[in-house]
Amino acid sequence: MSLYKDQELKIYNSITGKKEVFKPINEGHIGMYVCGPTVYSNVHLGNVRTFMSFDMIFRYFKHLGYKVRYVRNITDAGHLENDADEGEDRIAKKARLEQIEPMEVVQMYTVDFHNILNKFNFLPPSIEPTATGHIIEQIEIIKEILEKGFAYEVNGSVYFDVLKFNKTNHYGKLSGRNVEDLIHNTRALDGQSDKKNPQDFALWKKAEPQHIMRWPSPWSDGFPGWHLECTAMSTKYLGEQFDIHGGGMDLKFPHHECEIAQAEACNNVSPVNYWMHANMLTLNGQKMAKSTGNNILPGEIFTGENDKLSKPFSPSVTRFFMMQAHYRSILDFSSDAIEASEKGYNKLMEAINSLSKLDASNSSDFDVKAWSQKCYDALNDDFNTPILIAELFSAVKFINQVKDGKASVTKNDLEFLTDKMNAFVFDILGLTNDAVSSDNTNTLSDTVEVLIKLRAEARANKDFALSDKIRDELLAVGIQLKDGKDGTTFTTN
Ligand code: AMP
Ligand code: ZN
Repeated sequence: MSLYKDQELKIYNSITGKKEVFKPINEGHIGMYVCGPTVYSNVHLGNVRTFMSFDMIFRYFKHLGYKVRYVRNITDAGHLENDADEGEDRIAKKARLEQIEPMEVVQMYTVDFHNILNKFNFLPPSIEPTATGHIIEQIEIIKEILEKGFAYEVNGSVYFDVLKFNKTNHYGKLSGRNVEDLIHNTRALDGQSDKKNPQDFALWKKAEPQHIMRWPSPWSDGFPGWHLECTAMSTKYLGEQFDIHGGGMDLKFPHHECEIAQAEACNNVSPVNYWMHANMLTLNGQKMAKSTGNNILPGEIFTGENDKLSKPFSPSVTRFFMMQAHYRSILDFSSDAIEASEKGYNKLMEAINSLSKLDASNSSDFDVKAWSQKCYDALNDDFNTPILIAELFSAVKFINQVKDGKASVTKNDLEFLTDKMNAFVFDILGLTNDAVSSDNTNTLSDTVEVLIKLRAEARANKDFALSDKIRDELLAVGIQLKDGKDGTTFTTN
């Protein structure tokens, strides 16, 4: 049974500025593209927030029974220092500074990105394509845009002709800009640029001799413009028109505006039905950003090693903190705010842990079905997680009353309540239960201690085949034994 048939979901569509009833192109299926990270440095908590909002959205779609193809790319080429087609490639610059290969930079920070997302209990996307893996597709799109007359070549570079496009289409419709304002507000070309007009953007750039990230093309040895990769990969995996495109609010312009222009120039149709933009995480009222240093790294939050933090916070508490804000609201990070979230998180987990210990009665003092629908209503209202969490706390209050003998619940209602609490808290919000994970850690260490003792006995009996087998097989599952003068200890990786 597909839950989505019973739940009317409304999504705020950035391009219309309205909440709209969500209707996918193919019933039961959703195509969703989210712009991924540019892998030239460690992700900060701000990046994590945007990806977490879409992780929750992906989780809710799956819970509703949709088959979702979720594409989130890795930007490993083409994103220049300055979003307006100028400066060095961010990855090449890092490679130059560190004196390593650009692909080493890419590998290092892609691994970091995945590790961090795993810690926060993210679900992997269905496809995670890279820009460098789709150079051929990008070149094909440039050829098509040239053929349609919306681009021009100068000195081995190709630029999108914004003014020409705007004669038949509307450049600026997503970000609420119009070309006249853009002309007014963009600084004049300094004579160095090959562009006809400053609003134009690069589809292909000829590489300077020192630019090492380069590919052959009909125009020059060069590299694709940043906006092109997302058009190439979204079209390839989701089609010319797909359901949802997401990213952080700061990508609306120019990135997403240019994606629309490229796709419309090729296919003459608007590529995306619902544009979704997640709002920023700020620190001291300023956007967290890699470039300004105004940020907190996930590793710092887990260890507490940042002077903005009073103590460490677990990934689940951090996730709960983020889920307490609506994805379209700005969220300001502070140690006090996340400490308050920690209290709320602990209260929620305590209530969940006590569910299995509650005694059932013949009657219920809580309408579990009405409560559950209120939780769905919150999510159906453009994924309103703060309202959902408020509803979860009305269930917490009831659970605590039953625990104290001040209210009663039937067996069926208790089962239903447990199921739905688990679904909302773990499946959809993506939280994990720290108390249970630390229980698991304790069980693991008790088990390894038993094996260490058996190994010591085997050695005492000179059964080295068995003692080595215990050591090697533990190593094979990531547990390393270390023999020291005070006995054997172990580490996990
Ligand atoms: P980048 O790696 O810079 O391309 O950014 C990856 C994603 O993080 C994009 O969707 C950005 O919009 C988003 N992002 C960057 N800074 C913040 C922030 N302070 N808060 C929330 N999202 C952010
Ligand atoms: Zn993108």
